[in-house]
Amino acid sequence: MSGRIELAWSAPLAYACDVLVVGGGSAGASAAVAAAEQGADVLLIERYGFLGGTGAMVLDTFYGFFTPGSVERKVVGGVPDRVIAGLERRGMVLKRPNTYGAGAGYTYDPDTLKLVWDELTGEAGVRVLHHVTFVDVLKEGDRVTGAVIATKQGLRAIRARAVVDASGDADVVARAGGPFEDAGADGTAQSLTTTFRMIDVDVDAARAFPKAELWARMTEAAEGGDYDLPRREGSAHITPFPHVMHTNMTRVAGVDATDPEQLSRAEREGRRQAFEYGRFLRDRVPGYERGHLSGLATQIGVRESRRVRGEYWLTRDDVLAARRFPDAVARCGAPIEEHHAGGDTRWEYVPDGETYDIPYRCLLPREIEGVVVAGRCLSASHDAHASVRSMAQCMAMGQAAGVAAALATGGDLRGVDVGMVRERLVAMGALL
Ligand SMILES: Cc1cc2nc3c(=O)[nH]c(=O)nc-3n(C[C@H](O)[C@H](O)[C@H](O)COP(=O)(O)OP(=O)(O)OC[C@H]3O[C@@H](n4cnc5c(N)ncnc54)[C@H](O)[C@@H]3O)c2cc1C
Repeated sequence: MSGRIELAWSAPLAYACDVLVVGGGSAGASAAVAAAEQGADVLLIERYGFLGGTGAMVLDTFYGFFTPGSVERKVVGGVPDRVIAGLERRGMVLKRPNTYGAGAGYTYDPDTLKLVWDELTGEAGVRVLHHVTFVDVLKEGDRVTGAVIATKQGLRAIRARAVVDASGDADVVARAGGPFEDAGADGTAQSLTTTFRMIDVDVDAARAFPKAELWARMTEAAEGGDYDLPRREGSAHITPFPHVMHTNMTRVAGVDATDPEQLSRAEREGRRQAFEYGRFLRDRVPGYERGHLSGLATQIGVRESRRVRGEYWLTRDDVLAARRFPDAVARCGAPIEEHHAGGDTRWEYVPDGETYDIPYRCLLPREIEGVVVAGRCLSASHDAHASVRSMAQCMAMGQAAGVAAALATGGDLRGVDVGMVRERLVAMGALL
């Protein structure tokens, strides 16, 4: 099918705000809370019926709070700490120490996370609109002045002084004509994963089974032809619930997650694989003999799509050299963790116990005004992104973007006093 249909439409101006946050994942929810606490009138729009994004619909472990390696240092604070405190109050988070991989993580109940975000945004006075999808920008010259959203009642327009693009896919920057690198379109994007939980598991037996043996059984099962298991080193871990294990095993590669047809195929393939891995676990792995697949991810997990071209482009070298920047608004000690199309995962580490800085300039898209980005669509190379995308860093970037958006006089995000952003962040508990 080809051709083009010209549409003439108008949208009622339904909302006005100081700061519009597009996307309510780790980055967007943090941005909204931080901006509102700085006194801005904040509207947060989210296409699903809950906040937390990938952290609520695909995952259950925050990485990036701590450095891996021999010295465990906490590198993130502020709004992310309050998320952990909210989960702790309900007994729905546990710290899983780890010296390798991505380091120690906080494993939580994703449904409780949704409630915690409701509370944090509610207490901060954020207006939240669920079940609306950002579809376009309002623009005057190079300046983005608002957005158009699709609702059940039709299109609606929103006027905003500043916009935070926390959509994960840089939807705002892309519609505004800003520059980005499209990992999906050029075939370099990290693979996608449909996570799932196994219930009715003998967790002690499952935990006692060494990872190397699990991987050996995966390889044997796949090579024997009885199971279709594209990834041979997937993992499973404990959760706050007895008899429940959470998995990260499936792998769907070569997908442009912004293309609806490709994403639709990926959803179906991810689901098919999830049930295949579930069958394998039940048949072949100790502890899972009476297990059942439950809690399939709400959608397939997208690791990488568009990354904006910002005022600074974070590189692999910055990560591996633990580089510092004068306009740092967050820190990261997580390794480069690349889930490529093959059977394994590539790991490269920041020097032991060290961190690198995420500069404010990585949140500022070039060529357009009035927009700051946060989360996995930041300005970074494929390799740097594979390190900096953990949820703790997305929350840290989000709170920085929120503070900057609140301080941006007339939406001038480029002219924001970064020294003042840093001061406000430190006052909120951020670690810089
Ligand atoms: C399979 C997988 C495993 C991972 N494992 C871990 C892990 O164990 N620990 C860890 O810390 N990190 C992990 N990561 C990385 C981490 O989850 C992501 O990088 C992070 O969650 C991204 O946060 P974000 O806020 O930028 O985006 P998201 O969490 O994706 O949030 C974007 C939000 O915007 C909304 N949205 C998008 N487009 C629109 C639109 N047009 N209109 C309205 N709303 C919109 C979405 O619904 C969503 O809520 C993993 C990622 C994947 C995919």
